[in-house]
Amino acid sequence: MKFSKCPLMVIGTVAIDSIETPYGKQGEVFGGSASYFSYAASFFSPVELVAVVGKDFPEDYRNILSERPIGLGHLSVHPKGETFRWQGQYKSDLNVAHTIDTKLNVLLDFKPKINPDVKPEILFLANIDPALQTEVLNQVHRSHCELVACDTMNFWITNKKKELIDVLKRVDLLVINDGEARELTGEYNLIKAARAIQANGPNAVVIKKGEHGVLLFFENQMFVLPAYPLEEVFDPTGAGDSFAGGMMGYLAHIKQFNFDVLRRAVAYGTIVASFTVERFGLDRLREISKEDIEERLKIFKSLTHVDA
Ligand code: AMP
Repeated sequence: MKFSKCPLMVIGTVAIDSIETPYGKQGEVFGGSASYFSYAASFFSPVELVAVVGKDFPEDYRNILSERPIGLGHLSVHPKGETFRWQGQYKSDLNVAHTIDTKLNVLLDFKPKINPDVKPEILFLANIDPALQTEVLNQVHRSHCELVACDTMNFWITNKKKELIDVLKRVDLLVINDGEARELTGEYNLIKAARAIQANGPNAVVIKKGEHGVLLFFENQMFVLPAYPLEEVFDPTGAGDSFAGGMMGYLAHIKQFNFDVLRRAVAYGTIVASFTVERFGLDRLREISKEDIEERLKIFKSLTHVDA
């Protein structure tokens, strides 16, 4: 059978955000889990984006995605509805995003339809309604798809926990932040939380701890990495999605899934996220090249190396 090559597919939100950080305030920022994810992943691999926007979605934002090898054939435009909107605020602790408002808008009647000729080798279910994650998962043939990973956030853990737990039973890798891992499992200790998640589905779990780095659990092995140290984090929005994009983009490029490759993927994710937080929205990622990522990774390696 003839089918289009698709190393990596993502379903998630394409959003218009309103953000307030201690450094400033900005409305109408181009955001969304799938936007950050695909832009970050595209430094390593082509990526097919599955999402919906409304009639208000600016052409300029679509053009930003078109700058990169991001397939937009599955980006549907709702003829009447408004784009998903998120309003968030960060206080002095930049690791904690406070949601002021979430307007699901066009997500409410989104029915993603995957072209059956497009067969992803890796599928990433970015942060979105678990019911939509399930719809895409149901349309992807596991015989072609080597790896399914997913992300989520407190909004869905609170509102759609049962659906989310069903998704987790069907994925190989979960990327989640520390607070959400605790909320999902009821375990405060993050090693226990990861083990509880692994017992119910994915054999790999990545727990993001914001400026404190990440924990990777793969089968019964563990790996820890700090975040890339920055003197000034301007806007943390999208750090988690860019981390996941860098990580999954690297996996799609290498086409292997084992502990060593995952460790490197986590390092790439860390570096890409460190660029994202230097400006609002996608502004910083738009300025950098793959060489900048490699250069910063070299510095990171020397910062984390111990000759023991
Ligand atoms: P993060 O990487 O966790 O900082 O994600 C930031 C992005 O998540 C923002 O650009 C928001 O548009 C998006 N977002 C916020 N709330 C939700 C939600 N409930 N579901 C999906 N995406 C969301």
